[in-house]
Amino acid sequence: IDLRTLRKPLFKYTSCVAHTHPVSQTSCWKLKVQCHTRAFTKRLVCLWICGSVGLCLWICGSNVFFNHFQDSVNEERVAHVLAEACIRMHLAEERVCRNITELFRDDVIWALQKSLLWPSEACALLVGPSCGKFDLYAPWNITLPKVPKPPVIPPSAPAAGSPQNRVLFLTDIHWDQEYAEGSAADCKDPLCCRNDSGTPSWRRREAGYWGTYSKCDLPLRTVEHLLQHVAKSGPWDWVYWTGDIPAHNVWAQTRAQQLSELTVITRLIHKHLGPNVTVYPAIGNHESTPVNSFPPPSEHGNRSSAWLYNTMAEEWAPWLPEQALKTLRYGGFYTLQIQPGLRLVSLNMNYCARENFWLMVNSTDPANQLQWLVQVLQASEDKGEKVHIIGHIPPGLCLGSWSWNYYHIVNRYEGTIAGQFFGHTHTDEFQMFYDEETLTRPLSVAFVAPSVTTYVNLNPGKKGSLEEVTVC
Ligand SMILES: [Zn+2]
Ligand SMILES: [Zn+2]
Repeated sequence: IDLRTLRKPLFKYTSCVAHTHPVSQTSCWKLKVQCHTRAFTKRLVCLWICGSVGLCLWICGSNVFFNHFQDSVNEERVAHVLAEACIRMHLAEERVCRNITELFRDDVIWALQKSLLWPSEACALLVGPSCGKFDLYAPWNITLPKVPKPPVIPPSAPAAGSPQNRVLFLTDIHWDQEYAEGSAADCKDPLCCRNDSGTPSWRRREAGYWGTYSKCDLPLRTVEHLLQHVAKSGPWDWVYWTGDIPAHNVWAQTRAQQLSELTVITRLIHKHLGPNVTVYPAIGNHESTPVNSFPPPSEHGNRSSAWLYNTMAEEWAPWLPEQALKTLRYGGFYTLQIQPGLRLVSLNMNYCARENFWLMVNSTDPANQLQWLVQVLQASEDKGEKVHIIGHIPPGLCLGSWSWNYYHIVNRYEGTIAGQFFGHTHTDEFQMFYDEETLTRPLSVAFVAPSVTTYVNLNPGKKGSLEEVTVC
């Protein structure tokens, strides 16, 4: 097939690839195995990729072309076939499969249509090297200013009596509005402890009052209790809050629900910590619906993220200055001065994430965020200002190219970046950065805080009560 003759790039490519690289039952089986061993959202991506390649084969076989794919009847068919694939591959219960394919349908098909990737590349980009080939090192490089890197000053402990700040670090609250005490804590859905999880049988555990060690999120009372507790253990100078507000019921979320959860939790934090404590938020991958769906700012209209970013800007206006709200509305990131000598950068890490299917359209520095970061860091270096970076997904879990560019930036500005704070993994850990020349000299640390939610099998967590962050 001559690709140049094809009118609709992706789907014609799809049929081409189907001829040259037919996806066998075996590789679908591999995907299925991977689907069962990874998080539910990963499984969804598997479903879409396996499903779309399977559809490609079906379309080649039946000689129907994707030219008319955009019409709603065909979209309907695609969603139906994918839901069937989800059910037959036992990725989830039938109800969850049908809801999720419906929820993802419009945006994923739109992104696929705009993508110039071959299906195997799309698969590799979204799922990983196990299901296709995509050159993650296919270079896109941010440009660093010509200003030479200042000499490295080895870190030393601050002198006794240096000013200190107490910083609270909250992440991954995941409030479940439908959490129900006494419901089944073990169920087949991706999230349990809810009314529709069923009633526990004599052998099965049931949802507790405060929470449960299972795949369950939290009732509001636990979130509120935690906030009361941290308010008492103050005073706090400021708070880092790195995202993931809604529950893991990703198959049944609406924009209205996501926004109402954002509003309720934001106001609750404000109420308990008081008007004198400034909270600096970052955007998690669960804030949007469909989950992980963060179109870059080049996407306009109803498909864009304006519905989310505008509400965030409204709700977070008491904490953030106008200039920060402006870039928040544009791309979900911002910078501001916390105090003289210390600047904050809040990154929208959804633009680095493999699971954000919008990156199929273009994964090169989405929203020019890293290039913007370089400008901010250079300006801070010029002023002798230190910078803290916060975000949701830790940089080591990003797409390869994004991750290496970030690593390069941290290397260049090691004298300016005084701290990095992330969430998303739900566990208390850290990621190390070393010098690029020898990979032996540690030069920066990204702290990853434990989640407030118990999902999965965890204790609720927060960080900061025992830590004094010294600004030097
Ligand atoms: Zn989370
Ligand atoms: Zn997350």
